Amino acid sequence: MKRLTEKQGLERLEKLRSDFRAKIARDFEHRAKSCETCETKGACCLDEHFVNVHVSRLEAVAIKNALDDLPKDLKTRVFERIESSILKYRLDEDGDSFAKTYACPLFEKDIGCLVHQTAKPAPCINHACYERRADLPPDELLSDNENKIDRLNSRIYDAGEVQLPIPVALKKIISKC
Ligand code: SF4
Ligand code: SF4
Repeated sequence: MKRLTEKQGLERLEKLRSDFRAKIARDFEHRAKSCETCETKGACCLDEHFVNVHVSRLEAVAIKNALDDLPKDLKTRVFERIESSILKYRLDEDGDSFAKTYACPLFEKDIGCLVHQTAKPAPCINHACYERRADLPPDELLSDNENKIDRLNSRIYDAGEVQLPIPVALKKIISKC
């Protein structure tokens, strides 16, 4: 398959992201609890026993680009949280990273998810609090979207790129800058 530049990949990723987001909003989210009126807003993102969101290299680049647009002091705080979460939750040590959980460094008190509009990962778009299991989006919807993102990554980067926890994926990108 024809290779793509990272810029082309980011454009395609944004299209995948916005299509996925529109589908979740249209077909499922109206049956979930509203995040706007949630009395424990952010509990989902800061629960260190729950979050294990992994992202591809291309998604990490999109997140890093979004963070670059933040005010300097906020960006510094996020980078510090990225470093400390890797240490605290031992996210870059050997072992199954999918078995590890962490509080997400991209959640900012009084703002919320810092990449909500710009680069929110697919599992986070998919997530909401549903009362009835039957109302959840089917698992295949997320896995199909993640497979498309994986294929996109393979058209840009060399083989061997794996999905990583958000802090580890971001640190890899930041250390290359
Ligand atoms: S996903 Fe659930 S816990 Fe998180 S803000 Fe929305 S309603 Fe609250
Ligand atoms: S990326 Fe955003 S929505 Fe996802 S866990 Fe982090 S703060 Fe929450």
